[in-house]
Amino acid sequence: MAGCTTGLDAGLQGQIPANNTEFMLSFDDGPLPETTGRVLELLARLKAVDGTPVKAGFFLLADAPDEFWQRRMYYAPYELWTDKGSVAKYPDIARRIKQAGHSIGNHTVRHPWFKWPWLDTPEAVLREFSEWEIIAEPVLGAANNRLFRPPYFILTATVRETATRLGYQIVMGESAGDAIPGITVDEVKQKTQAILAAWAKPYPCVLVFHDTRPTTYGHLDEIVSHLQQQGFRLLHFDPKRL
Ligand SMILES: [Zn+2]
Repeated sequence: MAGCTTGLDAGLQGQIPANNTEFMLSFDDGPLPETTGRVLELLARLKAVDGTPVKAGFFLLADAPDEFWQRRMYYAPYELWTDKGSVAKYPDIARRIKQAGHSIGNHTVRHPWFKWPWLDTPEAVLREFSEWEIIAEPVLGAANNRLFRPPYFILTATVRETATRLGYQIVMGESAGDAIPGITVDEVKQKTQAILAAWAKPYPCVLVFHDTRPTTYGHLDEIVSHLQQQGFRLLHFDPKRL
């Protein structure tokens, strides 16, 4: 809309850089015992705007592959190296997330890159949902509200239809960049600050971190405190607001 700027718009642009933007925290790809445990400890130190320890959303994998050939078949072609979580292998840490009052969502069983044609069939997609429930529900109980975030944010028509048919709310978000190999803490601060400063949607911004990545499990409190110091308002994770 260049050329249409009114005096009011110019004033808003200059004075209110969405500096009271509200944001929520979410974490993908756990649970892993050590790294997820450290994230839980850091979260316990962070306070939401109401002054209580903040609640986040954790999108868990039911049983991510650990053999190279399985990763090759499921993960994105550019992503083979990272360790990912498993409710099946680490039920205790999954229970700890829930006992701390955080929300839990479905991030599939195996972290499929749904652009692989053999993974984007109705049968393969359904398997990622139904097997997740078979593994996670005995550990965590059935969720009142079913939440889903697709790996790599890839929502094919098949994935969207399946999630909707099964009664899941799809929760997307804005990547904090912590999954980028070699990214520094300062770069994550800058990236998340830029996201919140530019946020213009009529609902809070959901930042997406990974409890498996070192900038997050080592420095989450520092990153989030930095955002709060900029005036951004940390909310408890609440998918009803999205
Ligand atoms: Zn993921």
